[in-house]
Amino acid sequence: MLVAIDGPAGAGKSTVARRLARRLGFTYLDSGAMYRCVALLSLAAPGRQPGELARAAAIDLGGGADGSGPVLLDGRDVSEEIRTPEVSEAASVVAADPAVREALVAKQRELISGGDWVAEGRDIGTVVAPQAALKVFLTADARERARRRAAELGADVDTVLAEQAMRDERDSARAHSPLRAAGGAVTLDTTGLGVDEVVERIATLARAAAPSA
Ligand code: C5P
Repeated sequence: MLVAIDGPAGAGKSTVARRLARRLGFTYLDSGAMYRCVALLSLAAPGRQPGELARAAAIDLGGGADGSGPVLLDGRDVSEEIRTPEVSEAASVVAADPAVREALVAKQRELISGGDWVAEGRDIGTVVAPQAALKVFLTADARERARRRAAELGADVDTVLAEQAMRDERDSARAHSPLRAAGGAVTLDTTGLGVDEVVERIATLARAAAPSA
């Protein structure tokens, strides 16, 4: 069974998806980490085509039920490097490249082809796996999203808010696989909700979508 969780930056997708996977005994797929890996490669080799880099990259997301292992890129632990603001910005740039998306979507489909998954990103329900048993579009008020991310990063809320607005705009306005709720997705606004409550709600929806979950 597959639970797809999409939504804008800072909506709480990663925390929620990771906990939900642990709760259901599913494997967690952080598709954003793949775009971040390609961004890192692209920053290091600006002359190369990002699509080519994406196709050639050996990305290991760490496995484990909750994805707690290190992210390995061509055998190197990049777990921390891929979380810098510079890489966040570059990731949303390479993510607009159709060749990058094609390569990463293929890798994601291969991963989720067997077993039970909670996959999180921007286009899981719309492109990667429209057949997912449960599709959730997680959102929250822009300022609350920025507040959460600023607290995580130890950064200034207004700076995060400005960067987030730019990324949201780029993710939503791009021609290829723009960020939007999939057909049949349940939209969940997490403004004012705690993580446990959000996980509980999605777990209930997952049980309803597949009684054995
Ligand atoms: O989710 P995260 O912030 O780690 O994603 C980094 C960037 O990768 C996003 O801003 C978005 O541009 C891109 N992305 C995407 N499709 C996905 C996951 C991430 O375009 N499925």
